Amino acid sequence: MSRLDLVEEGTATTTGKGRLQRVPIPVQPPEERVDNFSEVSLGYSPEMARQEAARCLQCRRHPCVKGCPVGINIPSFLEAVAAGDFAGALSIIRQDNTLPAICGRVCPQEVQCESLCVLGRKGDPVAIGALERFVADWERAHPSCETGQTVKKATSRKAKVAVVGSGPAGLTAAAELSRLGYKVTIFEALHTPGGVLAYGIPEFRLPKSILADEFNSIVQMGVEIKTNVLVGRTLTIDDLFSKGFQAIFLGTGAGLPRFLDIPGEDLNGVYAANEFLTRVNLMKAYLYPQVDTPLYLGEHVVVVGGGNTAMDAARTAIRLGSEVTIVYRRTREDLPARKEEILHAEEEGVRFEFLATPVNIKSDGEGWVKAVECVKVIQGERLDNGRQSLEPIPGSEYLLAAESVIMAIGQGPNPIIAQTTPGLSSGDNGRIGVDAGTFKTSREGVFAAGDVTSGGATVIEAMGGGKRAARAIDHYLQRLRS
Ligand code: FAD
Ligand code: SF4
Ligand code: SF4
Repeated sequence: MSRLDLVEEGTATTTGKGRLQRVPIPVQPPEERVDNFSEVSLGYSPEMARQEAARCLQCRRHPCVKGCPVGINIPSFLEAVAAGDFAGALSIIRQDNTLPAICGRVCPQEVQCESLCVLGRKGDPVAIGALERFVADWERAHPSCETGQTVKKATSRKAKVAVVGSGPAGLTAAAELSRLGYKVTIFEALHTPGGVLAYGIPEFRLPKSILADEFNSIVQMGVEIKTNVLVGRTLTIDDLFSKGFQAIFLGTGAGLPRFLDIPGEDLNGVYAANEFLTRVNLMKAYLYPQVDTPLYLGEHVVVVGGGNTAMDAARTAIRLGSEVTIVYRRTREDLPARKEEILHAEEEGVRFEFLATPVNIKSDGEGWVKAVECVKVIQGERLDNGRQSLEPIPGSEYLLAAESVIMAIGQGPNPIIAQTTPGLSSGDNGRIGVDAGTFKTSREGVFAAGDVTSGGATVIEAMGGGKRAARAIDHYLQRLRS
């Protein structure tokens, strides 16, 4: 596509090379940030934001919007940013997204909205995520501004709805149901709301104060939250129906870790990534013994896996002072983590061992990890799922020194609710089955969305599911009453 085509696709009249290059987003230098947990990306200034937003061509067909799972009107909000109307921009975003400060930070924009930006065909796509973050942060700095945010205590409908889980799926479903007038109560197993946003994604990517503000705006809508309630143990789904909830939304995520099933995984010093990140993020284990949660990492840490969870674990461990090696069984190009996270991990000194997999975790003879034995693998024929088969290379075993090993090879849904709810069926992988259009589970009145139905996915996909499920619940309850 030529430069002329790019302009014809939109309505903008400004041309020039500048249009194809993104305004760089300031970040903390790597040598500084490895010693702190402060946010890596510093975000745009108002001038930078206006300049970046002005790159948008205002395309008539706005392909970028199709890449956003909640369908934000991207060109309109960019137009408002370019005009310096930041409150107006946020009002536009909030029509479709309850958590813009979070999505602007953690959405994998390069495979979502930005992947379809016309400017990306010849140069850099518009930095849609960074601009979304900018306007959300601008609002936090200007709390009295009029952003059109819906803050209403809505109890106009009589029905009560229970939301189980306070991750992005549960929070979005709760906000949407509240907007629709229902009385909503969230039940959360942990002592802090937010799901992976709270216990998984570290402070240096998503400051907890941002999450707290976004969460408070949902509470202001009238949503009630009960923490430390493990549904399936403290209360069952049947108990919730007995308490008068007429519909129940399950947004319980996929927090059950997987292991490799190799010798030595029961040694001291082997962590599931979620456990490790929870200890650091929620329990502040790095302050032990001032806090009750211990954490011993040692000098060398091996992280197994290649997704966002692996990058978060590795970058957290490096900030705690360890040397970190990520072992990943495929190549750098195959890493499923966000590109930016991979780059940041490399800049911070995380080492990568590609085309290798652990086969044995060695003990120091006293029950603690001493080393990880890995074997080199080669990639073979392409399989039906598009990935290549992997074969270990005989005799290629080698040792990596390690006092701790963090397993970040994926997780599945916890089966506790399916096991304690008559009539609720889940698949072999633990995922709760739903009807694609109605989000209904096999149990009358129970709906589900997010990672508990899809397996590990993304924040915005969980939010999109939560929002659509809330509308399906509304439809269900209206029919129930008619
Ligand atoms: P969750 O966020 O898992 O929330 C589920 C909630 O339900 C939890 O709070 C849990 O405690 C609660 N719960 C579970 N069972 C019960 C029960 N029985 N009773 C009561 N409460 C219960 N995605 C991105 O888009 N960008 C990223 O950068 C990114 N990084 C990630 C980093 C890590 C470390 C991890 C683990 C995931 C990451 N993801 C990322 C994926 C993303 O966070 C998830 O897809 C998303 O959080 C799923 O949302 P959810 O609401 O379905 O579940
Ligand atoms: Fe892009 Fe995520 Fe914002 Fe949608 S919510 S526009 S996918 S950054
Ligand atoms: Fe076009 Fe990109 Fe602007 Fe979307 S963000 S309207 S695709 S230039």
